[in-house]
Amino acid sequence: MMFKNISVLCKVLRRVCACLLAVCALCVISVPGASFVLPVKAETLEEYKAKQNQLKAEESEIKTEISRLKNQAKSEQEKKDKLDAQVSNTKRQIENLNGQINALNKDIIAKNAEVAAKEKELEGIKELFKQRIRSMYVSGQNNELEVILGANDFADFLAKTELLRSVTENDNKLMAQVTEAIAFLNESKSEIEANKSEVSASRNTLKEKQAELDGQIAELQGAISKLDGAIAQENKHVKEIEGDLADISEQIKNLSGRNNAIFEREFKWPVPGYYSLSSPYGYRVNPVSGVYKLHAGIDISGGAIYGKPVVAAADGIVIKASDTGDGYGKCVMIDHGLNNGNRYVTLYGHNSAFNVSNGQTVKAGQTIAYIGSTGNSTGPHCHFEIRVNSSPVDPMQYFRK
Ligand SMILES: [Zn+2]
Repeated sequence: MMFKNISVLCKVLRRVCACLLAVCALCVISVPGASFVLPVKAETLEEYKAKQNQLKAEESEIKTEISRLKNQAKSEQEKKDKLDAQVSNTKRQIENLNGQINALNKDIIAKNAEVAAKEKELEGIKELFKQRIRSMYVSGQNNELEVILGANDFADFLAKTELLRSVTENDNKLMAQVTEAIAFLNESKSEIEANKSEVSASRNTLKEKQAELDGQIAELQGAISKLDGAIAQENKHVKEIEGDLADISEQIKNLSGRNNAIFEREFKWPVPGYYSLSSPYGYRVNPVSGVYKLHAGIDISGGAIYGKPVVAAADGIVIKASDTGDGYGKCVMIDHGLNNGNRYVTLYGHNSAFNVSNGQTVKAGQTIAYIGSTGNSTGPHCHFEIRVNSSPVDPMQYFRK
């Protein structure tokens, strides 16, 4: 009784499943592209991708630091440029003052020459005066009185007295004039010297300022050099990371199978021009046998598909091109070799005729058979399977969406 009930329940479930799958089968799945993306060793790939992300984050952090250092260096450089401008301005001012000092020195030399000339003139006047006085006394006229007494008459006496007076007066006047000129020259020389020491003081202040600015500039230059060094260091680090990233990228590429000898070219869709599925991969009730089991591939169908070429999905070696009565009808199988240690085999069932023979080497896209409905089939279609290490997988998961 129990067994019978279970048996009935199973039958009911099968019917339900059959109905559901029949509905599903009517929903034609459109395939946008016709190229495979091969499976990869997820763990190892994940590891590489995690490392890649970590390095990228590190690189981005360093790049942020580099741009911060560059900004800092730029700001220091701007400060230094300002100080450089101040220094050249100060240097110009110092040069200007040096020019003034030179001109004042020349003035002082000229004034000294003038004073010396005037002093010589004064000496000359003094000498002439002395000589006149001496001649008056020495030539028997020993004193003023003798000069006066030596007069021939009163008129001569008057004349001689007047002469003596006028000579003295004239000499005194001349000497006073020259002495005054010398005093004036000395005064203007003093003024020039005062001016010179003022200019020299200004120049010295400027020189001090320049020295201070030079000190600040040297300090800034030191800071800039340090920053440049730090930037170079960080850039070197980025270069290293970029090298590591390139290596990882290469590893990821290899792991993704894009570089494998067999899978380096893109896979071809097995039935060119026909991209509709009448039955997907998965568990269903077989429409011919009525048995609920795995449909291990995809059924590619479409209007007027009978006799259309079936092509090799990738380069490989034909390992079957026969009808062995296992339900696949006239069936072709191709071994594509190893990819990351996994063996890939494709299967094309229900063909009407073969275009290849067992053991033949084929290229991707090469016609291997023609669409038919041999074996357990209800109509012309291509039953296409991908087997990884002998286990069927859903071929659709390898298509680019
Ligand atoms: Zn099928």
